[in-house]
Amino acid sequence: MRHIQADHHIYVFAPKMAAVETIDIPSELVFETIDALDGQITSREDRLTELDFSRVNPATGPIFIEGVKPGDTLIVRIKRIELPETGVIITGPGMGVLGDELSEYATKILPIRDGSVRFNDLELPASPMIGVIGVAPESESYPTGTAHRHGGNMDTKEIGESATLYLPVFQEGGLLALGDVHAVMGDGEVCISGCEISASVTVELDIIKGRQMNWPIVSTDEGIYIIVSLPAIDAALKEATREAVLFLERKQQISREEAAMLASLAVDVKISQLVDPNKTAKAFIPRILAGDSPLGIPMI
Ligand code: CA
Repeated sequence: MRHIQADHHIYVFAPKMAAVETIDIPSELVFETIDALDGQITSREDRLTELDFSRVNPATGPIFIEGVKPGDTLIVRIKRIELPETGVIITGPGMGVLGDELSEYATKILPIRDGSVRFNDLELPASPMIGVIGVAPESESYPTGTAHRHGGNMDTKEIGESATLYLPVFQEGGLLALGDVHAVMGDGEVCISGCEISASVTVELDIIKGRQMNWPIVSTDEGIYIIVSLPAIDAALKEATREAVLFLERKQQISREEAAMLASLAVDVKISQLVDPNKTAKAFIPRILAGDSPLGIPMI
């Protein structure tokens, strides 16, 4: 199986990027990733104040996917995320939702054992997920710490093992890169970090030709999440709601008003993260309404 090594990484998703490898589809491959702090934090004495922020959020890649064109949808099936033995979490003054109420910089190294993340004497079940995953954007460049239509730092906990991510493609070859894996994270990511880990991520790639949606979508056994990232969370929540209502209108062949009512009955509008430059909302449509076909996604 092809391995994309972690020393090939980017800090900006740009429309034009030099690819590190060319991959045929369908194919399965492994991305080796470094943690979002670029491995700079290795003990509890390492503080945020000493971080080189130009090295935050490395994303391994990008890879050029043969035959993928603007207007297509890239399918990324997440097969496996291999956990290391430790992760790290950081916070401090000005960091996260309660940053104005924190007075000390704090770092914790979190042991990961037998599928659990240890925090003091608590054991939290690991639920590994990919924080940063995206393709080359249409016209603007985005730092890997910022999410938008191309994906990026969506910090959405459903982007984990056995989920399938659908990304709209804007450039030849797609130019996929990923990193910032977390062993576990709650919705909101309120202190500014999850359990940040370096990890091996096995994915299977495929495409839908000539069709795409407005925003990334992640599909799980339970249903689909439309993932919207904008500078303000209230705008992101409204846009995610709009996308879900438009989806239901088309899928169920009902009026806008009926679709709004159906969304009110069965769609969960939630927050992925509140701490990155663009905030991320997600609208969950249960499988009974989303249907089985990935082609059921709302198209531009
Ligand atoms: Ca992140």
